This record gives sequence, C-alpha cells and structure tokens, in this order.
Amino acid sequence: MSTSKIATHALHAGHDVKSNGGTRAVPIYQTTSYVFNNAEHAANLFNLSEPGFIYTRLNNPTNDILEQRLATIEGGIGAVVTSSGTAAIHTALLTLLKTGDHIVASSSLYGGTYNLLNVTLPRLGIKTTFVDPSEPENFKNAVQENTRVFFVESLGNPKLDVLDLKAISTQAQLAKVPLIVDNTVATPALLNPIQYGANIVIHSLTKFIGGNGTSMGGVIIDAGNFDWSNGKFPEFTEPSPGYHGLVYHEVLGPAAFIAKARIEGLRDYGAALSPYNAFQIIQGLETLDVRIKKQSENALVLAQWLQTKEEVSWVRYPGLADDPYNELAKEYLSKGQSGIVTFGVSGGFEAAKKIADETKLFSLLANIGDSKSLIIHPASTTHQQLTEEQQESTGVTSDLIRLSVGLEDIEDLKSDLAEAFKKLKVTV
Ligand SMILES: *Cc1c(COP(=O)(O)O)cnc(C)c1O
Repeated sequence: MSTSKIATHALHAGHDVKSNGGTRAVPIYQTTSYVFNNAEHAANLFNLSEPGFIYTRLNNPTNDILEQRLATIEGGIGAVVTSSGTAAIHTALLTLLKTGDHIVASSSLYGGTYNLLNVTLPRLGIKTTFVDPSEPENFKNAVQENTRVFFVESLGNPKLDVLDLKAISTQAQLAKVPLIVDNTVATPALLNPIQYGANIVIHSLTKFIGGNGTSMGGVIIDAGNFDWSNGKFPEFTEPSPGYHGLVYHEVLGPAAFIAKARIEGLRDYGAALSPYNAFQIIQGLETLDVRIKKQSENALVLAQWLQTKEEVSWVRYPGLADDPYNELAKEYLSKGQSGIVTFGVSGGFEAAKKIADETKLFSLLANIGDSKSLIIHPASTTHQQLTEEQQESTGVTSDLIRLSVGLEDIEDLKSDLAEAFKKLKVTV
C-alpha cells in the first residue's frame, strides 16, 4: 500500500485487521500494561531485542496504529504520539537538546511555542534566536557554534506566512542541524515538509487532524534522513547513561531520534497520549483529506468576500491572488491553503474585540481546526501576555481577527459576519 495516496492511507495505514481481531474500526486498547509471556520475554522487550508493548506511557496498540498512519502519511520512518501538540514540541526539543544548546527559530510561531522557546527553555539554559523566516539567509546568519536545531511552522499561526521550506532546509543542511517543521496548520493532506528536506515534523493533533474539537494530542514524526553521527550529537553516538549504555546511532541507525524520543522522552517526560484520545483522533484523521479541502475552499470564498467589506481594512489568506504569500502558496500549498483567515477591523482593537463578541455561528474560543467555525481576537486573548513588539513579530496586530473556517454552509458564515459588522455601526 506504500504507493497509495494520502486519502487511502488515512483510512487504512497501520491497522492490520487480522491481528486486531478482524476489527474494521481501530479498537481502543484501554490498558496501562501488557502481560509478558515469561521473564525472558520481558527482559527482551526492555533491552529492545524484541518489539512489543511494555507500558502505555511508552507504547500502546491503538497509539501504535495512529503513529504508523501519521508516519506513512507524512513520509516518515516512525512517529511518537503525545498528549498534546505542545508535548510533542517539548519532547522533540528535549530529546535533542541540553543546557548550553541553541535554537534558531522562525519568529512567526504559535504563541505557546514562542513562550516555550522565549521564556521556559532559557530557564534550562537553552536559548533561541528568532529570525524573520521570509529571508532564509537569516537562519544561516543566526547560527552559532552551539546551534543544534532549526524550528519553524510551515504555515505560521496566526501570521499565515508560507515558508520556503526548500531554502530553509538547505540552510539547515549547511549548518549540519536538523530542521523541525510544525505542520499543524497546513496538515499532511496539503503539505508534506519531508519532501522539501524537513528532518522532523510535528503536529498538534488537537486541530485539523482530530477535527472535531474533542481531544488533545500531538505527534513527532521522524523523516529518518538526518545524520546523527556528524559530530554535533554525541547523545546519539556515545553510550547513553539513560538507557544502560545504548549507542542510539549504532543500534538504531536512521531511527535513532524517534527511538530516543520514545524510550527516553516518553519515559522521562511522561507526555503519553491516552488511547481513547488516539481513537478519537483516528476518527478525525480518516476524513482529513475531504475536510481540509472543503475548509480551504470555504476559507478562500470567505476571504474574497471579506475583501469587499468596508469594515475590513485588510485580509490575509495565502490563497488570495494578491496575498504576499500567494506565490509560495502556489508552490507549497497547491491543494488548498487550509482553513485559517485573518483580517483587520477598521476600528482597531476595540472594534475587533466587538466582532469576536458578536458572531453567533463562529464560536469565540481559543482553538483552530474544528469542523465548526471559530473566531478569536488574539491581541486581547492568546497573545495578550506578549509585548506589542513581540505581538508584531508573531504576526499579531491589535486589529487582527483570526477565523478558523469550518464546514458550515458558506452563505451562513457570510451572514453571521455581516450581522456582526452591522453591530459595529450602531456603537462606533
Ligand atoms: C495549537 C498549536 C500547537 C499546540 O498544540 P496543543 O495541542 O494545543 O498543545 C502547536 N503549534 C501550532 C501551530 C498550533 O496551532
């Protein structure tokens, strides 16, 4: 089935029907632990000489199917699912980094990720230089002797900048560091960063992949294309005290990183995904391909409509012909540009806040990627803790409204916003 397309893999990959009791749907294996055949079997599982399940913090048959499915869809060699997208990011970074290491990151990042890199990781002695990703040379110029990773979002949330992944991965190769791409907003149905040289791909499964706003989850996918023996990553080439002297690169080859993310990352940081949430996310993943294409279609029509409204001072959607990222979108997001649209409300901060207050079909909440349409005013909510300067660099202006466009009828979505715009006139 490896030659199949994403829509097919999303329904079948990783699920061996026969070995799962003939189940057509992926079963929920709601168990914490697994009975070993005997003491030797147990010992073999622990020293990795035999594959199998040990304890659900490390692995679980439902999670395993989701991991195989996501790895297949993104073109990776393996994956680890986690309790949230944020857990995927910190588990991936802490699998790679130690005190004294340095990250070069895109300045256009999800607010939570920005805080992790800007405030929390520095407390552990891991510092980040943020660069404007629209100029790939900026990554090279920020590289230090202790730089160990580049981190970007393929389609920035909420800036909606489409990154030139090919050019950035070339810079990562020159610097001999892995490129991690958070592909949450684009989704694997629209863009596969590994095709453009990414080494590790992250998703928040909470968003478009789950798609129903029911379950938190995250994933780390390893492309298996990075040389961990290049001299910069002794954790992979020297005996690991964390796993009784295992030399990851020697024993696991290209799977060194994803193995360490599981057997040390999940073991020690403990951000395991609940099998029940894995099941919910699998239900979403199965229809991702049709949903994200419809959401992209709705988003484009709505963005074009917003451009005609006098209450709207600007509209950003990479699918718009006059969008600054339209050329890159044609190259990287030809199947659709996802469901996020941002626009500026003419009246500024207060007027934007009022719009978020007045919509009825668009739910006012802090999430994206639900099948239901969502709205938020980031400057007063998700990005409130950042300084105005930090807000600007992550793409948030005080007049900005972020929409996550769902699967509702497009005419209903337009009239909901039109009604909210009318309220603006009464009060302003
Ligand atoms: C939501 C989001 C995250 C964090 O994921 P959670 O599942 O909420 O922890 C990371 N990156 C991007 C781009 C996101 O939109």
